[in-house]
Amino acid sequence: MDKINAISDVILQSKRVVVFTGAGISTESGISDFRSPGGIWDRFDPNEFTYQKFLSSPESREKYWEFSKALWPAIVDAEPNQGHYAIAELYHMGKLDCVITQNIDSLHQKSGVPEERVIELHGTLKWVICLNCGQRYPREQIQSRLESGEKIPLCEACGGIMKPATISFGQPMPERETREAESRSAACDLFLVAGSSLVVYPAAQMPLIAKDNGAKLVIINLTSTPHDHYTDIVINEKIGQVLSQVVEQVKAKLRDETLASH
Ligand code: ZN
Repeated sequence: MDKINAISDVILQSKRVVVFTGAGISTESGISDFRSPGGIWDRFDPNEFTYQKFLSSPESREKYWEFSKALWPAIVDAEPNQGHYAIAELYHMGKLDCVITQNIDSLHQKSGVPEERVIELHGTLKWVICLNCGQRYPREQIQSRLESGEKIPLCEACGGIMKPATISFGQPMPERETREAESRSAACDLFLVAGSSLVVYPAAQMPLIAKDNGAKLVIINLTSTPHDHYTDIVINEKIGQVLSQVVEQVKAKLRDETLASH
């Protein structure tokens, strides 16, 4: 409770909050982390899905699309949870600079954070991209092609290899998003991690960039992270519960301030 109070104070004192999210916030919406057992991950081995294998082997592409076809319904049906909505409230209060996310499920946008305030470091499942000509297709369109029996969909414009617009193991990070995330991390005054174990680089570098440039660092995650020792406040609890309590307190304190000023 004291920590929730302390986080709400830090938010009140901050003007540019960057929220950084990982799988932990999506698991609370029922989307399972590939590292934890259960569901479709038992039928597929994510280590099989490297970018190099996708490029070099038709069998690998077929397997990948089979996996992706099975994954999509869970993603498209998932709803934001109270953690996502609490972050969207920070946006409505004018506190949120941006969300930097490792997630590919568009749940921040669904919760009301505008598209241009969400930096998707690991891409998005919403689009499929032709690796040859760069043409983008909405995922729904490709999903119906998969469901009507296509095993490896090819680009309608050029016949090139297509891939969901997510970043696979071994695939280069998106340059524009990575640069944008670095500069916003450097410019914020509060960097709030929600649901990331901060082990995947360069994503995990962002809180360090923020801290080195004078921001306060807060981590809300079920388990400890390698960055906990530089962190101002760490809470190892469920993200949705903690964030919604934090935002309620921020709102209550803002109301009190407004009353006191009249
Ligand atoms: Zn193409």
